[in-house]
Amino acid sequence: MSDLRELYQEVIVDHNRNPRNFGRPEGANREAQGFNPLCGDQVTVFLRLEDGVVADVAFEGSGCAISTASASLMTEALKGKTAAEAEHLFEEFHRMVAGSGSHEDLGKLEVLSGVKEFPARIKCATLAWHAFDAALNGKGGSVKTE
Ligand code: ZN
Repeated sequence: MSDLRELYQEVIVDHNRNPRNFGRPEGANREAQGFNPLCGDQVTVFLRLEDGVVADVAFEGSGCAISTASASLMTEALKGKTAAEAEHLFEEFHRMVAGSGSHEDLGKLEVLSGVKEFPARIKCATLAWHAFDAALNGKGGSVKTE
């Protein structure tokens, strides 16, 4: 398990240093902010929703390595998904990081599964997802993890 753990760590460090899909994408038509007061993480998620499909998703913000890496990995995972697929992925991801029962194999997102051992960091890992969810459902504005 230690090799796997090291690999996971490397992916998180890489995504924190070089976040993917960082910035406001061209033609974004939804956005929402997330704030995790426990850690100070802030994120804004931008979304271009076309015919119920996540045509583009990106983020801006600053926070700890977990929150940034999670937002970066999330954008990669959600691009091209339908709204229903995206909601499903969020549920599975939440189950994984909360360690509550079994979840589907989430591919690259599995690198964040170690978070379940650190309950205080679960909010860091789910922050961008909550903001995405608010943007997707057209709520906009700001969501707080507390
Ligand atoms: Zn954090």
